[in-house]
Amino acid sequence: MHVETTFGGIGRRRRGVTALVPTMGALHAGHRSLLDLGRGLSDTLVASIWVNPLQFNDPADLAAYPSTLDADLAVCEAAGVDVVFAPTAEEMRTHTRQTVVTVGAVAERWEGAHRPGHFDGVATVVTQLLAGIAPDRAVFGRKDAQQLAVIRTLVADLALPVEVVAAPTVRDADGLALSSRNTRLSATERERALGISAALLAGADHVEAGGDPAAVTGLVGERLAAAGLSPEYVALVDAVTMESVETIEAETVLAVAARVGPVRLIDNVVLAPADGGVVADRGIRLAG
Ligand code: AMP
Repeated sequence: MHVETTFGGIGRRRRGVTALVPTMGALHAGHRSLLDLGRGLSDTLVASIWVNPLQFNDPADLAAYPSTLDADLAVCEAAGVDVVFAPTAEEMRTHTRQTVVTVGAVAERWEGAHRPGHFDGVATVVTQLLAGIAPDRAVFGRKDAQQLAVIRTLVADLALPVEVVAAPTVRDADGLALSSRNTRLSATERERALGISAALLAGADHVEAGGDPAAVTGLVGERLAAAGLSPEYVALVDAVTMESVETIEAETVLAVAARVGPVRLIDNVVLAPADGGVVADRGIRLAG
């Protein structure tokens, strides 16, 4: 495995089909599943580790973001990564960049509304990584469902020659979606955070059992309230446009954002029409 700090360095390591897994480090089993997926889809697997300051709308969140480079390199090595791209701020032109990529409507609601500037930061740096590394495939997690929709939109709009691959959400054995921010939860907060996945899974059960999708956000909201959580939003949205829907005609995301103690958490389940009914993708649960 090679560690490169420049775009040019990666160019020299590429051979055959290249897949990129962009991350902000603090790697966990969710990232590992993206790396495993990318490994199976490529000859050269590149993992980028870059804590992108541009996408943090909250300076306290950036300051508290975990940094575990040595452990991250061990995860990459174990996953068979060929090249880790760990650039400097200079290489990423963090302080000198004059170009910003702004995606329209798909980026404006939900996360976009609650985290001003966040998706400009994501779209700008993902475009930079895709342009600089030029992978054939890039793997993103469904855990960040709106980020995935924003990236799919920018790749289509700019005709970027890359295939976007979506990876399922990985959950702990108790259902909590893995997140680098979970390490900042106290034991009691973590217990309360379980209310998020429990509410979403109850929503998925409701729709799969033939319940009215239009009632599901209300049901999830009640479950969250009963768990002592007040969400920033509960949304049932088209997975491509992120517009609210009341029926499941195409791939649909049931999404929640909520603060638990010092941490803002997001989670979702994916609902899709199947054989006259609806089937839910609840993600992958790690063994207990
Ligand atoms: P991050 O390092 O949090 O920016 O995430 C890097 C990539 O990992 C993104 O594509 C995320 O959607 C994905 N990811 C983060 N957490 C999970 C998870 N629990 N399951 C699957 N993918 C995830």
